[in-house]
Amino acid sequence: MKLLYTRENRHLVYNIKNIVENAGIEIMLKNEFAAGGAGDLAPLETWLELWVIDDSDYDKAAQILDTSFNIDNAVDWICSQCHESNNGSFEFCWNCQQSAPE
Ligand SMILES: [Zn+2]
Repeated sequence: MKLLYTRENRHLVYNIKNIVENAGIEIMLKNEFAAGGAGDLAPLETWLELWVIDDSDYDKAAQILDTSFNIDNAVDWICSQCHESNNGSFEFCWNCQQSAPE
């Protein structure tokens, strides 16, 4: 099992989970219910983690992540309508579907 992605913004992790899952890759979430205990844990330990169950699927999953999100290049943007943070490759706000700024 390999860690594919982790991020403080849980909605982004869920978003990626859906995309990777739709490609037929078996994945699991860790820390899905850990946020409530954030007071006792270091922040990193409560980040939602997305794991690829079968190591041989990892490269494929990483590639999907890469092409879908351009995580390394994209700059996050703040929605002008609801002020949520969005991954730079999102064309619409995950929360309210407002278009990304040009
Ligand atoms: Zn929004």
